[in-house]
Amino acid sequence: MINRRDTKKINIGNISIGGDSNITVQSMCNTKTKDTKSTINQIKELEDAGCEIIRVAVPDKESAKALGTIKKAIDIPLVADIHFDYRLALEAIEQGVDALRLNPGNIGRIEFVQKVTNLAKERDIPIRIGINAGSLEKEFQKLDIPLEEKMVMSAKKHIKILEDEDFDKIVVSLKSSDVLTMIKAYRLLAKDNDYPFHLGVTEAGTLKGGLVKSSLGIGSLLLDGIGDTIRVSLTDNPIEEVYAGFEILKALNLRKKGIKFVSCPTCARCNYNLIELAKKVEEKFRNIDKDITLAVMGCPVNGPGEAKNADIGVAGGAGFLYVFKKGEIILKANENNILNILEKEIENL
Ligand code: SF4
Repeated sequence: MINRRDTKKINIGNISIGGDSNITVQSMCNTKTKDTKSTINQIKELEDAGCEIIRVAVPDKESAKALGTIKKAIDIPLVADIHFDYRLALEAIEQGVDALRLNPGNIGRIEFVQKVTNLAKERDIPIRIGINAGSLEKEFQKLDIPLEEKMVMSAKKHIKILEDEDFDKIVVSLKSSDVLTMIKAYRLLAKDNDYPFHLGVTEAGTLKGGLVKSSLGIGSLLLDGIGDTIRVSLTDNPIEEVYAGFEILKALNLRKKGIKFVSCPTCARCNYNLIELAKKVEEKFRNIDKDITLAVMGCPVNGPGEAKNADIGVAGGAGFLYVFKKGEIILKANENNILNILEKEIENL
């Protein structure tokens, strides 16, 4: 049982983060935001995969103007990622986004910050302060202290700017591509702060390496009870980020969303192409939102027993497959029919 850090609950569109809310999984589009068709298509695919909050970069006015069209076509909260230009932030809010990712210290004069916070307050829009170890302000970079301390100082500076404007719908992230640095930074800021945290290892890398780094970084903090929303950054299709996010949460029993897959590593007792079937099974059923465990096992001798906890499973036989439920074999099937049989069995669970 993980005792979660006591954080302030904040609404982002139709969902909430922090407090006793679910830990949400988010992703970011890699389409051009101004290409509304591609961006909407990608968000729809991400929604189908379970994505709960989506962020898009807003590098220019055309992208900001496109946000309204995107917002109207999607069902999950939309976050506008803005650097430096407060006019883009104002336009994004006018277009109806549900949150901003913006560091107030980077947008210049205090009047500009006030314009943004006033409008954000009026529309009840939260702001995520996103500290990134790679782009710290010079004033912190030059300090002779550990990097995580510099990141926390920077976060506190941005938080204070918003608090001074009486703005407290704040979410914070402290990302680094170095796993240990990001873990230390979040732990440090968690000590004297109750704003919800968005967790992530930035520039984590391609699928395999990125998954390992993100699982360690995000997973370690979640075990500490730290973290209210997560993004697994991967150099891959953002859909993989969503699946990975839920895998991390499911592995820690923090979310139940979607089917839990188990499969054996195979050994000499396996007489069929389990690796191929396991991939097909996962691909076919991964968008089904049922709290069940599905197993793909190599042999009938150990498979059903090793996967006793699975609600439904497959084990290889000689030229056919066995289907089992809770460790008990219920029928024999031909490999070609197995996906259809599983589909029907899962429907009835
Ligand atoms: Fe080997 Fe069977 Fe265990 Fe798979 S289930 S690892 S094939 S003994």
